[in-house]
Amino acid sequence: MPHLAILDLDGTILGTPDDDRALSALRVFLAGGWHIAIATNQPARVRSDLCAARVIIAEAAGRDVPWYICNHDIGDGCDCRKPQPGLLKCAIDDCGVPAISAWMIGDKWSDMLAAQRIGIHCCLVEWFGYRRAGRTQMQPTKPPDVYCRDLLVAAELLTGVYT
Ligand SMILES: [Mg+2]
Ligand SMILES: [Zn+2]
Repeated sequence: MPHLAILDLDGTILGTPDDDRALSALRVFLAGGWHIAIATNQPARVRSDLCAARVIIAEAAGRDVPWYICNHDIGDGCDCRKPQPGLLKCAIDDCGVPAISAWMIGDKWSDMLAAQRIGIHCCLVEWFGYRRAGRTQMQPTKPPDVYCRDLLVAAELLTGVYT
């Protein structure tokens, strides 16, 4: 059965202590037969930065990857800004995998909460973002399914479990 890894961008793939290492996880997922998609909250002011990120990620993955982006602001009340699950829902629908086969992987509790709200698995990559910001963020009512040190560990673990 194909699986889908929905990946947060900032602090998970880019802006980590070792982006090369995190980027190499993309190929681990793809080599394991997984689909991957990016789901990211972006304020409008940094939209242009995503052009560079798209190139970096397509090169690292060796192919185009679907992106799901919330460009709304926090006060807009949209249903896509994580911890709302709209981006994740779109990724799952477009990919065509059952929800049971989808994982959300990110560095913040808002990523975990978005996944839990639609009943998919979630993995927190702890790096430093979690440690810096975790205390003040909205807390999910239940812990992530899996904690990993970084995205590469998550990719190796999950693709190994589901072979
Ligand atoms: Mg993040
Ligand atoms: Zn939005």
